[in-house]
Amino acid sequence: QTFADADLHPSVLQNVLRMNYTEPTPIQKNAIPILEKNYDLMACAQTGSGKTAAFLVPIISMILKKIASGRIRPARSHVGQGRFKALPLVLVILPTRELAIQLFEESRRFAYKTPLRPVAVYGGASPAVQNEQVRRGCDILIATPGRLQDMIERGNISLAFVRHVVLDEADRMLDMGFEPQIRKIMLSSNLPRDESLQTLMFSATFPNQIQVLARDFLKEDYCRLR
Ligand code: AMP
Repeated sequence: QTFADADLHPSVLQNVLRMNYTEPTPIQKNAIPILEKNYDLMACAQTGSGKTAAFLVPIISMILKKIASGRIRPARSHVGQGRFKALPLVLVILPTRELAIQLFEESRRFAYKTPLRPVAVYGGASPAVQNEQVRRGCDILIATPGRLQDMIERGNISLAFVRHVVLDEADRMLDMGFEPQIRKIMLSSNLPRDESLQTLMFSATFPNQIQVLARDFLKEDYCRLR
């Protein structure tokens, strides 16, 4: 099984090949078809397993296909039309600034030569600069929980158009005390909590607290990969 066998959008496949990923890792082999069938997913995955591409590749591919069929529009097509809020299509929540920057770089590579624009927002950096970044158009928003919550409350970001949400390194986010922010974002923001939303959780460990979150956030028929 290769990346060419997965039914990926041609631009994403080209970017995967450009990065010299010839063979998918086990988590990529398992997760890509599940995500393309639009199931929610809880996956136990360590850093180094290739988990980042396991979600970025199919999600970017699905978004590009929806754009190609006219079902959704990339952010840059409505920048300057009186919209001052960022309306991301993909939201990745992760625990640290370092991980946010890393994921931003990886997203840029997978979204290369596509209309999708990734932006990272995280604590410890200027909110004004990050605001300006998201206002210029943001399709893939990569965020730490506190800064994301702030920007939602200030009205800089709306989650109303999000189609795919990923909680990455969920166990670390709990260890760092982010559960209240994550619950608020997942359960009481304007994130569309219906069939149009796909939710993914990645965690290195699978303690009870993570299982409770999975039950609260994922659709009942979610897939588990361990
Ligand atoms: P991750 O577990 O997502 O942090 O990825 C670990 C490292 O493996 C990163 O440097 C990726 O660029 C690399 N990687 C991920 N998937 C593949 C693949 N299918 N082939 C080769 N390298 C990969």
